[in-house]
Amino acid sequence: MPPLETDPAVPGADERPTPGCRRCLSALRSPGRGSVAFLLLDTLTVPLVGCDEHLERFRSVCGHTTAARAELIDHRPAGGITCPGCRLAAHNPRQAVVPVGDGAVAVLACSEHGSETVRRFGTGLRTRRTLDASLPTSE
Ligand SMILES: [Zn+2]
Ligand SMILES: [Zn+2]
Repeated sequence: MPPLETDPAVPGADERPTPGCRRCLSALRSPGRGSVAFLLLDTLTVPLVGCDEHLERFRSVCGHTTAARAELIDHRPAGGITCPGCRLAAHNPRQAVVPVGDGAVAVLACSEHGSETVRRFGTGLRTRRTLDASLPTSE
């Protein structure tokens, strides 16, 4: 039997992605202290909002883009966030929201570090697809 494939819905260009993951959704709707995590990626320290599962996925994808550390911590790092723009962005509701699987992660960074993080995530996804393609699939 051929596999049934449905066309993925094409979202509006400037619509925010609505995550299918309810825990991401509630974290994005009311980002509080408990739902903010900090991604340490090379020299970047980027506050992120999402559920634990999708934050971890975001981290592991970004980890493909660095030979150094890609860590997720759930408390403000020692020394804090050095970039003043990123510190302000944590209080700014206009965040970049990145779809991660069926969830979504908001990047609470200044435009420079936010786009750097999103770019790294995109690079990591491509790397992961390449890795996946070279592995035998078990499904
Ligand atoms: Zn989620
Ligand atoms: Zn910044």
